[in-house]
Amino acid sequence: MFGKLETLPADPILGLNQTFQQDSNPDKINLSIGVYQNAHGVTPIFTAVKKAEAQLIDAQETKSYAPQAGDPLFLQHMTQLLLGDSLSAQLGDRVGAVMTPGGCGALRMGAELLMHAREGATVWVSDPTWANHFPLLQSAGLKLEKYAYYSPETHAVDFSKMLSSLQAIPIGDVVLLHGCCHNPTGADITPEQWDQVISVLAERQLTPFIDVAYQGFGDGLNEDAYGVREAVKRLPEVLIASSCSKNFGLYRERIGAVMVITPDSKTTAAAKSHILTAARSSYSMSPYHGGGIVGHLLSDPALTQEWRSELEQVRARMNRLRGELADGLNQSQTVKDFSFVAQSKGMFCYLGIPLDAVRALRSEFGIYLLDSTRINVAGLSTENLPVIIDRVSKVLQR
Ligand code: PMP
Repeated sequence: MFGKLETLPADPILGLNQTFQQDSNPDKINLSIGVYQNAHGVTPIFTAVKKAEAQLIDAQETKSYAPQAGDPLFLQHMTQLLLGDSLSAQLGDRVGAVMTPGGCGALRMGAELLMHAREGATVWVSDPTWANHFPLLQSAGLKLEKYAYYSPETHAVDFSKMLSSLQAIPIGDVVLLHGCCHNPTGADITPEQWDQVISVLAERQLTPFIDVAYQGFGDGLNEDAYGVREAVKRLPEVLIASSCSKNFGLYRERIGAVMVITPDSKTTAAAKSHILTAARSSYSMSPYHGGGIVGHLLSDPALTQEWRSELEQVRARMNRLRGELADGLNQSQTVKDFSFVAQSKGMFCYLGIPLDAVRALRSEFGIYLLDSTRINVAGLSTENLPVIIDRVSKVLQR
């Protein structure tokens, strides 16, 4: 049965991590990973999350199945966190939410729903986008195309190109947007640009599928939800994939939610039934633990406050490091202006250096970033920043 199978290539990011692990350079630095790290290179558990987890376990009396859509407290609070209290209340049963195994599970279940609604639908993704969007959506049977987004010349979103690219999308297609903290570029659109994007979506009857994996990592929990909330206010139908991996630090618990908003509760109930059926025919229902933690945490005001201030510290640390990297690079070389690094949002940013410089950093100095030049800002620290600034400047000035 299995003898004819050939080994598939490793995921490029995981593959690079393996090379990093095997590198014997004692001064090696890994900027390629996709998780938040603190100053000690540890991906910490939020104190509020740890407390919520302990309380949850203590109070739990059964491990019997939870409702198939997931923990009701989790679903209610995640909807409020993402859409805000008043908009969620206003929408009522027009929102259908289902707990999923991570943001990936939410993307995949959203893709299944789109397939059920319109077989072979085309989803337009930003150029570039998170590499995993392709297998996640294509394996459900959707077709993917790209819309213009990032300009390597300006190191920012080429907004006029993006807008005309969106205007050329056939009526009725789906547009995948990053809610905030664009992965991999760190280049986001502004609230005013969101307004314009939403106007094009309305004109062309395009359905947004919004991936929100970093709420709270950009400008703040509410600020980062601007685009998603405006889309929900102004458009009849919106599909959302959200993740608790980063902002609750619950990566391995695999927790996220898919949300569908339609013009009426009957349509939403129908759409939700398709998500539940898709889940039933693969993993049946999401693991409970992470959702139990988040649901408990967000229903406790003191824990919520504690979590919000911890998240604030995470965001402040990344912003400080981003600023220090930009300033340090600008002061130590004259080949390239790195001011754009300070403007990027979230955990990632493109450095925009030549590929031979990326390779030299890796082979000569043990500094690992992706070939695309994506770095994880959280991989920077007060200790390694001077080294990184020095080495990047060196390879650029050759
Ligand atoms: N979307 C984007 C853009 C991401 O970067 C990630 C995490 N790397 C996810 C979704 C989902 O992650 P997870 O399944 O771990 O929640």
